[in-house]
Amino acid sequence: MKPLIHDQFAGAPSKRALAYVQSKREQGKHVVGAYCGYAPFELIRAMDAVPAVLCAFSNSTIEAAESVLPGNLCPLIKSSYGYIITDTCPFFGLSDAVVAETTCDGKKKMFELIADRKPMFVMDLPQMPDEDGAKQNWAEVIGRLKSFLERTFHTKITDHAIEAAIRDSNRKNTIMKKIFDYAAGTPSYLSWQEMYDLTFLAQPAGFTDIEPLLESCIEALENRKKNGERIGKEGAPRILITGCPVGGDATKVFKVIEEAGGVIVAIDNCTGMKSFLDTIEENASDPIQALAERYLKLPCSCMSPNTRRLEQIDRLIEHFKPDAVIDVILHACHGYNIESYKVGEHVRRRHKLPFLKIETDYSDGDVRQIATRIETMFEMRE
Ligand code: SF4
Ligand code: SF4
Repeated sequence: MKPLIHDQFAGAPSKRALAYVQSKREQGKHVVGAYCGYAPFELIRAMDAVPAVLCAFSNSTIEAAESVLPGNLCPLIKSSYGYIITDTCPFFGLSDAVVAETTCDGKKKMFELIADRKPMFVMDLPQMPDEDGAKQNWAEVIGRLKSFLERTFHTKITDHAIEAAIRDSNRKNTIMKKIFDYAAGTPSYLSWQEMYDLTFLAQPAGFTDIEPLLESCIEALENRKKNGERIGKEGAPRILITGCPVGGDATKVFKVIEEAGGVIVAIDNCTGMKSFLDTIEENASDPIQALAERYLKLPCSCMSPNTRRLEQIDRLIEHFKPDAVIDVILHACHGYNIESYKVGEHVRRRHKLPFLKIETDYSDGDVRQIATRIETMFEMRE
């Protein structure tokens, strides 16, 4: 089967992302790094700067991080910090400023340790999204981020420019959802690797920059469909992934699922479909309020209660029709780990689907054990 992306960056999405950020930098644009789905990239694009997703997914930087951070900490935080202290994240190197956020305790404290390296704005995220005033508080925080960006880069971010960036994101999300739909039917025509690579590239990119690539992918997917080039074998179990961000070395779980004969049809995580599934209100009287409304709806486990996550899983199950749900939890991520019980009960009771929680880190020491659990799940289904 012909790969969806077959130019010089085929199979190397991070090289493409880096080349993109570097080219923008060479055009004199500012770069703003971020780690989290709550960073409103529209504000960064509205000042004609480039958002960059910072490195967080390699086991190789964890040993260095553990010289400062406790071993019993989420690998995503350790890896991010390790990249910074070893000066090996090119996106961080190119960034003029960093947008951080108070999602979980580990990340919040790690940001304190790197706060002196670049101008940094920490977004104080309200964590009870349904409480009175939460949306207003969050809009004020986004407003303060806007002031920080204006101060740092000596610019003015107009409502008109934010509105244009909102429209761009909505157009991008519409195309991304069209691409995801190639995994919604049986058989699926979109592999997990393609889904993962495209979400990785599309998240920070401006619409006009990424549109040609996305359109060419749709053309290739349409050809696949016409030629009956399916992903996986007939009757292969269809899997919905949920949980913590799963990138880089943690995608070992996806590889194991594929090797066991499963087909991943939906990735509900931040390193997947999450940021593309909703739209931002256009023509709102205040575009900052529109951003606040959209971003506060993101169903991260740092929210309490996080009922939107269950609602999103319901919608994904109805649309992508998985045969099982796998919740990937990074070690020491207490929020997602505790929430996994609720998610599991919900999936089993409401959808009568098998549910498997996999706790893992970025090392490859547990690959065999994960494979056994997934193979057992697939055998029980048969
Ligand atoms: S899981 Fe939560 S904290 Fe992590 S990137 Fe997503 S929104 Fe941010
Ligand atoms: S995976 Fe969990 S512990 Fe790790 S950074 Fe995200 S929310 Fe925090």
